[in-house]
Amino acid sequence: MTTNSSSKGLSVKPSYDDDNVFARILRGDLPCQKIYEDEFALAFYDINPQAPVHVLVIPKGQYISFSDFSSTASSNEIAGFIRAVGSVAGKLGVEEPGYRLLANTGLDSHQEVQHFHIHLFAGKPLGPMLTR
Ligand code: 5GP
Repeated sequence: MTTNSSSKGLSVKPSYDDDNVFARILRGDLPCQKIYEDEFALAFYDINPQAPVHVLVIPKGQYISFSDFSSTASSNEIAGFIRAVGSVAGKLGVEEPGYRLLANTGLDSHQEVQHFHIHLFAGKPLGPMLTR
């Protein structure tokens, strides 16, 4: 990943890598098993599912992480994206008995793909939130 320095050189903000796998899916360069799409979001099945239902919801805009999205996306994009996540859960029929949302952000979280995404897990009792 390349970096941009601020004009004063005091902070370094990572720049968006247009070649990340989700950017390629959004462009149609890579296939995905699509579940839902609107002007704000795309949802598709994870290629390596960790639960009977494991879906990724990604914003259409170029945001690296939750931190980037929450601080720089417009209110319209944020509202549209959150509503899309809810629509995906409704479309999957998992509101009962429930589901888990997760957004890995940054190194300690093990975020692998540098395009903001929310994981939606469902389809069985999911157990405690983190293994010790
Ligand atoms: P992260 O660790 O960044 O939160 O999660 C990235 C997720 O993207 C992983 O669960 C991984 O299985 C999924 N993933 C990586 N490459 C692809 C791909 O090409 N297609 C799909 N559908 N999922 C992918």
